[in-house]
Amino acid sequence: MKIRLLLSLFTLFPLLFGAAATATPLVITTNPILDDFLRQVAPPDTIRAHCLLAPGADPHANEPRPADLRLIAAADLIIQNGLNLEPALARLIRNSGTRAKILAATDGITPILDHHRAPDPHAWQDPQNAIRYIENIRDALIQLLPRQAAVITQRATDYIHQLRDLDQQTREKLSAIPPQNRVLVTTHDSLAYLARAYDLRVLPITGRGGCSHTEPNARQVAALIKTIREQKIPAIFIETTANPKLTRLIARETKTTLAPPLHTDTLPKNSTFLETYRQNIQTIATALGTTTP
Ligand SMILES: [Zn+2]
Repeated sequence: MKIRLLLSLFTLFPLLFGAAATATPLVITTNPILDDFLRQVAPPDTIRAHCLLAPGADPHANEPRPADLRLIAAADLIIQNGLNLEPALARLIRNSGTRAKILAATDGITPILDHHRAPDPHAWQDPQNAIRYIENIRDALIQLLPRQAAVITQRATDYIHQLRDLDQQTREKLSAIPPQNRVLVTTHDSLAYLARAYDLRVLPITGRGGCSHTEPNARQVAALIKTIREQKIPAIFIETTANPKLTRLIARETKTTLAPPLHTDTLPKNSTFLETYRQNIQTIATALGTTTP
């Protein structure tokens, strides 16, 4: 009897403890950009990655679903942007009681403050900041998967090289825009980090920084129209995650070209950060690259 009990324990032991030791950790992200960064750094088949935001959706306005809570509870690591990009999800994660390690990918980045002195969350728009995101994700992954440390470090280093190339290519491309055209009129204030890095100026139509859905009043719209006319700004930009209605009206009113939409706050389906960023830079360079007669 005793032997049989012992044997059954022995057969159960590896099942119970071996399974826990080899279970693939679940890593949750709150934005497709973070999901891409995670997949670039994590060695294949070492984690299960799940993104709580569908491709193309607006991170500021995302309302969590009940299924999200189950994933948050089961997660080993949760990577969010921080700086109030995803207020509803961040609140849900904070109150969930999850035992997962929670990483803000913007840790260590000095944010640009908007006119309410609130941090602008779109820090990845400067590739130098994106490098910081990768370093933070690398360090959190090494804690989670210490045996993979060497591979994780190598993958992070390789990707950081690609981000440095992206920075260099962006600088070259945007330096060709003539001085009087170096203005980004966008639907919401998503490109302050890009503008600071590459010597452009942002004139957002709605809101600034965190308060992305503040509609401008009539006086503010009139002032913006005046600036676009006076400075002969050749093109203005809509964004895939923001309502384009007012931007279209202003383009019509000022007879300004409406550039193809920028992917500022997320990634389109099946796209990487590098592809999407290059596409945005090409759109900006093409739209602003010519002088208005
Ligand atoms: Zn935004």
